[in-house]
Amino acid sequence: MSNQVKRIGVLTSGGDAPGMNAAVRAVVRTALNRGVECIGIRRGWSGLINSDFVPLHSSSVSHIINKGGTILFTARCPEFMDREGRAKAIATCRLLGLDGIVAIGGDGTFRGALELSRQVAESGQKLSVVGVPATIDNDIGCSNYTIGFDTASNTAIECIDKLRDTMQSHERCSVVEVMGRHAGFLALYVGISVGATAVLIPERELDFDRDVIEKIRQARLGGTTHFMIVVAEGVGSAVDIGKRIHDEIGLDPRVTVLGHIQRGGAPTARDRETASRMGYEAVRVLLEGKGNRIIGTQEGRIVDMDMEEALAMVKHLEMYRYEVLEALTASGK
Ligand code: ADP
Repeated sequence: MSNQVKRIGVLTSGGDAPGMNAAVRAVVRTALNRGVECIGIRRGWSGLINSDFVPLHSSSVSHIINKGGTILFTARCPEFMDREGRAKAIATCRLLGLDGIVAIGGDGTFRGALELSRQVAESGQKLSVVGVPATIDNDIGCSNYTIGFDTASNTAIECIDKLRDTMQSHERCSVVEVMGRHAGFLALYVGISVGATAVLIPERELDFDRDVIEKIRQARLGGTTHFMIVVAEGVGSAVDIGKRIHDEIGLDPRVTVLGHIQRGGAPTARDRETASRMGYEAVRVLLEGKGNRIIGTQEGRIVDMDMEEALAMVKHLEMYRYEVLEALTASGK
């Protein structure tokens, strides 16, 4: 089968995540080892539309496994949402003689990949697309784990630990906003790991008295004099939450928005290793002649799934983790 695939493209798209480089490296090295040429498509889907590409050799991906960001750059590409934009992308694939594409990114990137696959099928051209999940939010339904989550969690934990030192000395309340517009996986994971007083996530409707004030009160009654409130950005502004805490119980919280710092930094071992396995599997799947697949992890194993079915899958936050958080918070009860 592999002799049918001679040249593939690889791109990173959407929000960046530490470990994307390790995935690019794995795709390139696996392809070259199997006698397949590899072209780097720059700036996500827009690189396919604008013929923005770079041939990749083994040495092109040397010394990147340890680097955050992505050597291929990433971008959002509104033009790709339209048929005309995707038609241009398909024309570029034909021009470059690509037999397959590995798209490394999040949910949106995969929706783009699915639309591209559908349009390719209508055109009669042969081009397989395989998605590799990379997002610090860990919010992709078909995969237990997404590249970047571990690094982002560790970055957030390191920052919060530092804040905690000073909050503890001054006996203050800290409100920290972490990323997660639609999902609280990162906030809850980080919250458990730093021993937060309370964690606010978009999956749980906010009852301010129950979820914030009462948590602080119980912690105080339990002997704590500093409080750490972790807020997923999708819940609302951490500044507003800080103000409300001030207005309702008279504390003077310090608010920190961690922001894009969570997207950077050297990927952890988990992210490098997972990205390496996922990149390898993506090429293996392409060479098997399979197309329109998404790579994911299930119970620690790497699997590949039909793209359409994978995109229909929904991952729910395990509320059990919320119970763990609550059970471990200092309490005056
Ligand atoms: P992520 O991959 O991190 O979720 P985005 O949601 O921004 O990031 O998606 C990345 C890109 O994927 C978009 O800029 C767009 O080019 C493409 N895309 C997203 N959704 C679709 C869609 N429904 N149809 C076509 N392309 C899409």
